[in-house]
Amino acid sequence: MKNAFLLFLTICLSLISCNSINIIDKPITFDQERSDLTIEYLENHYGLKQKEPTIIPKMVVVHWTVIPTLDKTFEAFDPSRLPGWRPDIADASALNVSSQFLIDQDGTIYRLLPDTTMARHVIGLNHCAIGIENVGGTGDKPLTKAQLNSNIKLIRHLKKKYPDIEYIIGHFEYTYFEGHELWLEKDDGYRTVKTDPGIDFINAIRNKTSNYNWKPIPQKK
Ligand SMILES: [Zn+2]
Repeated sequence: MKNAFLLFLTICLSLISCNSINIIDKPITFDQERSDLTIEYLENHYGLKQKEPTIIPKMVVVHWTVIPTLDKTFEAFDPSRLPGWRPDIADASALNVSSQFLIDQDGTIYRLLPDTTMARHVIGLNHCAIGIENVGGTGDKPLTKAQLNSNIKLIRHLKKKYPDIEYIIGHFEYTYFEGHELWLEKDDGYRTVKTDPGIDFINAIRNKTSNYNWKPIPQKK
């Protein structure tokens, strides 16, 4: 009887640990300046006049950083203002790029911003998109199996928390949303060409989470 109870307890604990997710809070600077720049971005790019720099999550956008380490990525996202090495997007806003989540090569998940604070990580869709950045992505630092598993875990966790999330996309797929109701970008000249996080990585995530019946990516008009 005692053994049966212990077995039951072990099964319960293992089920709990399978479903649990460990997210480490590692907040980037979100001072008054970043808040002001974010509110300004929401108005200038999306026509959204808000008092708070918040989003309503409808999708998750998956990225790779190309930057090879967690520390260097954190350093890149931490300042409120865009650093000088991003002249390609500086005209659109002085707000620095970032994302809500960052996953290291070993699969450790870090939260850089509250889930519903806007991060600048995808043109046209930041007002409704939670961003997951993955450290690496280059030839000598490809994304790892541990990262794939953590993306899947994190997306399951987010879908449970925000049932209105309907799309899981790779950054390279963002322009397919031009003309879609979620696409709010006002500047037709503000576009960048992206390849991250690779077709295989995003398809593997969608396959492993297909029970959620994600909406298909819109067709290019
Ligand atoms: Zn990206």
